[in-house]
Amino acid sequence: MSKIKMQMPLVEMDGDEMTRVLWRWIKQILIEPFVELKTEYYDLGLKNRDATCDKVTVAAAEAVKKYGVAVKCATITPNAQRVEEYGLKETWKSPNGTIRKILDGTVFRAPILVNGITPYVPGWEKPIVIARHAYGDIYNAVEDRVESGETAYLIVCKDGKELRRKQIHAFDGAGVVQGVHNVEKSIKAFARSCFNYALENKLPVWFGAKDTISKTYDHAFKDIFSEIYEAEYRLRFEDAAIYYLYTLIDDAVARVMRSQGGMLWVCKNYDGDVMSDMVATAYGSLGMMSSALVSPDGNYEYEAAHGTVTRHYYNHLKGEQTSTNPVATIWAWTGALKKRGELDGNAALSDFAKRLERATVTTIENGYMTGDLIPLFNLEGVTPVKLNSKDFLNKIAEKL
Ligand code: NAP
Ligand code: MG
Repeated sequence: MSKIKMQMPLVEMDGDEMTRVLWRWIKQILIEPFVELKTEYYDLGLKNRDATCDKVTVAAAEAVKKYGVAVKCATITPNAQRVEEYGLKETWKSPNGTIRKILDGTVFRAPILVNGITPYVPGWEKPIVIARHAYGDIYNAVEDRVESGETAYLIVCKDGKELRRKQIHAFDGAGVVQGVHNVEKSIKAFARSCFNYALENKLPVWFGAKDTISKTYDHAFKDIFSEIYEAEYRLRFEDAAIYYLYTLIDDAVARVMRSQGGMLWVCKNYDGDVMSDMVATAYGSLGMMSSALVSPDGNYEYEAAHGTVTRHYYNHLKGEQTSTNPVATIWAWTGALKKRGELDGNAALSDFAKRLERATVTTIENGYMTGDLIPLFNLEGVTPVKLNSKDFLNKIAEKL
């Protein structure tokens, strides 16, 4: 059998621990036998980030701008304990944060659905994709404690001169105060990323904020989304038979619970933080949640939503066979290969990626899976069999 050829390379970002092990196996067992894989390789493993003083992360992000499509393995975000464990020169920043800063994108998280693994919310038959705004609000806030008798103001200045002043509160007892901000440029980029993703995946868009209470701040989000939708997207949405719905965030939550899923749920930064954990948990396992970073100028980076699965890696180092779920990492590869195929007009490549996804789903539906899925699996007539990661990958390859 001749292998599928690629015209343009993928930007390949290798990572850490158990996911680095899975990475190599997925390539060897599921991709390289079928595809003449072309990648521009960047080793974002913590050792190499340290050796290059994290320049490799910046170079990888720049390469995404050049080639348009990347696939990323989970990486360690170092803390004090990791500095000691790896003898690091510095507590390097989160690679995802660095990449997101350079590409300026929105993160979309989607569950991977399989028959036999029912979400905790029984009505959710289709995936709910969450788009979380990744800039501003409480994540870039300034806060203070205030004592009795003090007054807090919101003051706006230009060139050092005070332009406006509003009283926040005159405290007659101790309290707290917080200043948050956002910028139009980021909200606009967020809106366009969401509408583009919705068109591409044929999903309606639901966006909730609290404009009734936050008449200026949240209202700005509502207005910007609405202006961009009307000016640039309404006709294309109508052609694609999808729609845009804005509603209050509390109403959005209630509607999502009652829904069958199948929408892009657009969330402000904090709402997205909270709701993505809820949605991920409700669909079953972290190992079944994929993640894509989409930049406003059309660059794509695909990864698993979970981390490097440290506990499993330590067992792996002890020589034990682990049953770590590779599905979300497989989806990172299939997402990137599909997009590469689409951009390059390479139908064979996109088709291969879809077959790999189908083979993975079918393998699980036939009862072969990793340990995390066993307690969730309830397909009638099928007794689930727990496999270690490598045997599971080999089982998928057989199907493929
Ligand atoms: P994690 O790696 O996602 O793992 C948390 C726990 O979830 C695991 O211990 C495991 O539970 C379960 N789990 C996650 N993925 C699984 C999979 N594929 N198969 C089976 N079980 C899975 O999160 P963490 O332990 O908080 O973080 C570990 C490292 O990952 C940290 O250094 C962190 O900085 C990094 N991280 C990276 C990213 C990224 O690159 N995008 C994201 C998050 C975290 P059991 O142990 O109970 O089996
Ligand atoms: Mg969270």
